[in-house]
Amino acid sequence: ENAAKVIDGKEVAKQIRKEIAVEISRMKDAIGVVPGLAVILVGDRKDSATYVCNKKKACEAVGINSFEVHVPENSTEQELLDSISKFNEDPSVHGILVQLPLPSHMNEEKILNAVGIEKDVDGFHPLNIGRLAMRGREPLFVPCTPKGCIELLHRYGIEIKGKRAVVIGRSNIVGMPAALLLQREDATVTIVHSRTKNPEDIIKQADIVISAVGQANMVRGSWLKPGAVVIDVGINPVEDAESPRGYRLIGDVCYEEAIEVASAVTPVPGGVGPMTIAMLLSNTLSSAKRVHNFR
Ligand code: NDP
Repeated sequence: ENAAKVIDGKEVAKQIRKEIAVEISRMKDAIGVVPGLAVILVGDRKDSATYVCNKKKACEAVGINSFEVHVPENSTEQELLDSISKFNEDPSVHGILVQLPLPSHMNEEKILNAVGIEKDVDGFHPLNIGRLAMRGREPLFVPCTPKGCIELLHRYGIEIKGKRAVVIGRSNIVGMPAALLLQREDATVTIVHSRTKNPEDIIKQADIVISAVGQANMVRGSWLKPGAVVIDVGINPVEDAESPRGYRLIGDVCYEEAIEVASAVTPVPGGVGPMTIAMLLSNTLSSAKRVHNFR
């Protein structure tokens, strides 16, 4: 009766990928341009290799050319910078993504600074983040995961303006840009982090909660305001003897409790996760459209 609406990120992402594919063929037919995304994998992390492979497949499925480069673990920072500047100069590349985290001997700030801001489809360049934070400025790109969260709210017709929003987590890639985006959409935003006292009291006031912490089931149903909208970014492995892999993935928010209290909740998996790659494809398409002045 009072159970929450499930926000189906998998379905929305599928719809968005369909729209992107249509736009890409329209652009190709009209001006002969195919968007290109360069994905740079640095080092030997298995998880990073998997993400890169998924991004490549997602590109192919919508008609984006993907250029993949593997920079070996023992490479110098300069070798990675050279690879980035090659793509900065290549007109067939409209987006450049350096898969994080980098090996410890490389300076992340220096590397992210090297990506041309007009190809910064991850939205991590300090100029893009700075513009996101400033009134009256427009970033060329917005980070994909927080952008996906807002897109879910829009596609479900959930009003943001004037609402109280709480973002849990303040990382550069999710929490911080999510809070900036909500503020740009005229929400009143509070950020909860690991040093926040009585987080449940603050979260309980929120009409919209975006959680990006990385702690399984941390947010309980009793912490939520009745009717709140909950966007759960967390992806946390928990032991599960019944699963063939021995584990399964759950969110930061206790889903079974949240659906009894909230008005809408994203599941994990199948919520924010699929939206991240969809937003990467969307950023790559907008980049190609922008350079070629195609509308
Ligand atoms: P980080 O570890 O970089 O940041 C976690 C944030 O949570 C920090 O700001 C930290 O606070 C805060 N935090 C930690 N513990 C608590 C606590 N007990 N109460 C309140 N706040 C706390 O993580 P990310 O932002 O990179 O990722 C967050 C989660 O989202 C992870 O589960 C990750 O797997 C997932 N994720 C999912 C993506 C997707 O769906 N595509 C993409 C990216 C991430 P402090 O700053 O004080 O340390």
